[in-house]
Amino acid sequence: MFNFQGKVGEGTFSCVYLAIDKSSIEGGRKRSFAVKHLIPTCHPKRIYRELWCMQEMGGVDNIAEIYMCLRNEDCITFIMPYLEHEKFITYVMDMDVRETKLYMKQLLLAVRRVHSFGIIHRDIKPSNFLYNRKKGKFLLVDFGLSQKVDECSESKDHENVDGTGKKRKRDDGIKSLASGEKLFAKPQLPVKKCHCDGKPRICNLCLTRKAQNAPRAGTPGFRPPEVLLKCPHQTTAVDMWAVGVILLSILSGTHPFFRSPDDVTALAEMITMFGSDKIKNVAKKLSVSHLPILICQAGRNIVCSEDRRGLDLKKVCEMSRRAKNLRDSFPDEAFELLYRLLDVDPTTRITAEEALNHPFITSVE
Ligand code: ADP
Ligand code: MG
Repeated sequence: MFNFQGKVGEGTFSCVYLAIDKSSIEGGRKRSFAVKHLIPTCHPKRIYRELWCMQEMGGVDNIAEIYMCLRNEDCITFIMPYLEHEKFITYVMDMDVRETKLYMKQLLLAVRRVHSFGIIHRDIKPSNFLYNRKKGKFLLVDFGLSQKVDECSESKDHENVDGTGKKRKRDDGIKSLASGEKLFAKPQLPVKKCHCDGKPRICNLCLTRKAQNAPRAGTPGFRPPEVLLKCPHQTTAVDMWAVGVILLSILSGTHPFFRSPDDVTALAEMITMFGSDKIKNVAKKLSVSHLPILICQAGRNIVCSEDRRGLDLKKVCEMSRRAKNLRDSFPDEAFELLYRLLDVDPTTRITAEEALNHPFITSVE
């Protein structure tokens, strides 16, 4: 029998309550549970994904497990272990090097496990990675936006659209792969040339194109360049960028670090931070998909009113810490890891497995 103690958290799709089970005693204390009550309009797919992830991956490497799922008509409730935790903002400014290493290692262990199932969490951020400082315990929660890697490129939303606005069947590409044809074989439909490059108006061809869809689920400020650029083929590297944003918050003592109200402003913010050339190059590179079905996809050409060289992230963090009178300084290794996590190119961005072998993490006491 649960005794409800009140609300402990709230997200876009749920309210989470602390409940105590009076009948079960653990280590001399009554057992605590987190009861996540989903809003009734929550999409069944979202409910299924979250349930599946906790059932399959939970209980290991700081991933929340599920004890029970209750349903009463359109009300769904998950019963999970409860982890008392503080808000990130209360400790982000006083995490020292030792604690940062510990935090990052535990986060990377959880992310590595998620990725080993071929799943992208898509919402890695401090409010989904709970931390109990006193007990040194961690918990990755909230799998409602999670996605299988192949779903990202195979979803119906990403059917290619040719220059005439007609959909091309993705089967063509898959067949050509299966029959061993050249990966970049010429498309059968004529590719028309776009005329808006560098001009302040949209050409007739582009006016007839259907909007390109790509997964963009996630939280503003944690979305990587490939999501902002609407790259249709996204990978687990999406989560690694978000891990990088968390490390950037710790090293700079600033949360949230990126605060853009929309994707275009977020892209402009990235150009300022990382330089226009880097973002332009990655935009061009990402438009050339390795999948033949996507070869007609319009390229991403970024036009900037002025070119930016990018900032030195280490200097940015140090300036920000000085402005807040934070004394601790971080070793170069921490910034090396930061650069590898915030690599604007998802194809070369560090993986969770590699990050766990990075000297900043392996030196954790
Ligand atoms: P949403 O999908 O609505 O974002 P979350 O699963 O992220 O919901 O939960 C919202 C908040 O509830 C979290 O940020 C956290 O503060 C709290 N919470 C979630 N799960 C737990 C848990 N197992 N133990 C303690 N608090 C939790
Ligand atoms: Mg959440």
